[in-house]
Amino acid sequence: MILLDGKIISEQVKAEIALEVENIKRQGGKVPHLVAILVGHDGGSETYVANKERSCIQVGFRSTVFRFEDTITESKLLYEINLLNNNPDVDGFIVQMPLPKHISEQKVIEAIDPKKDVDGFHPLNVGRMTIGMPAYISATPDGIVELLRRYKIETSGKHCVVLGRSNIVGRPISNLLSLKGYPGDCTVTVCHSRTKNIPEITRTADILIVALGQAEFVTANMVKEGAVVIDVGINRIKSETTKSGWKLLGDVKFDEVAPKCSYITPVPGGVGLLTIVSLLKNTLKAAKKEIYG
Ligand code: NDP
Repeated sequence: MILLDGKIISEQVKAEIALEVENIKRQGGKVPHLVAILVGHDGGSETYVANKERSCIQVGFRSTVFRFEDTITESKLLYEINLLNNNPDVDGFIVQMPLPKHISEQKVIEAIDPKKDVDGFHPLNVGRMTIGMPAYISATPDGIVELLRRYKIETSGKHCVVLGRSNIVGRPISNLLSLKGYPGDCTVTVCHSRTKNIPEITRTADILIVALGQAEFVTANMVKEGAVVIDVGINRIKSETTKSGWKLLGDVKFDEVAPKCSYITPVPGGVGLLTIVSLLKNTLKAAKKEIYG
């Protein structure tokens, strides 16, 4: 069994990006600039944005955070987004979710210029990805694809079972893996809460991607010998054995599933670590005008 190590891969990709930024600087080019909009004071969002800022600095990007109180009106936020859309100094930006209830997240996503939508949530980017056109791909599916590529995992003709059909994980990854060419060409089955006989289906998977949000849902008897298992789930569970009083569990019962796998991601330390890297990759593409010219 080989561990798909998100830490090693994320450091590798960051080093490659940092090298490219160095070259851009040396040639007198513009350093990529990522802006994050943060509304309110949600602890999780503060942490995510701080991590993003740290990673930007690590690779040599410029990073700016625009903070607004959670009393900001929807129209004022849309106005600020429009300013960023038209600011040539900003290559890409993200609006950290969740937003306060009085603001429509969908309206916000659709207000972002697709050319600067480095989160890859705009319907134009989602649509372009779906038909295999160049697009900003959102962080989690892109992170999974990065792991498959870096570990040179064969996908052509494989049966890939995806557990979960959310718009941010299950749906896009099932789509990407069925596209023509590497790392696609899979035969993909998508399962969700209405699917019957999930264990019967997962036992036929060469590649099993689990994004349910159900701690340790996948057990050894649900996995084929030699399968590649990618666990996206992050579940914060109360624990009496840790100092903090909680622990992180994936959607896969790692200890009993791992010995059956050819490759498996740990939680934490797997897919999650690659999500910020995907944002950095997209920002570099935005600065280089790689997607839309
Ligand atoms: P959602 O809650 O949006 O979607 C969960 C999906 O799983 C749904 O399609 C749902 O089916 C399906 N599902 C839930 N329970 C069952 C069940 N018992 N049997 C079959 N299907 C089920 O979750 P997300 O996709 O946003 O996230 C999934 C997990 O991944 C979470 O643990 C989340 O924290 C984690 N995550 C991790 C990231 C990372 O960076 N590593 C990034 C994003 C998410 P239905 O559609 O029918 O309701």
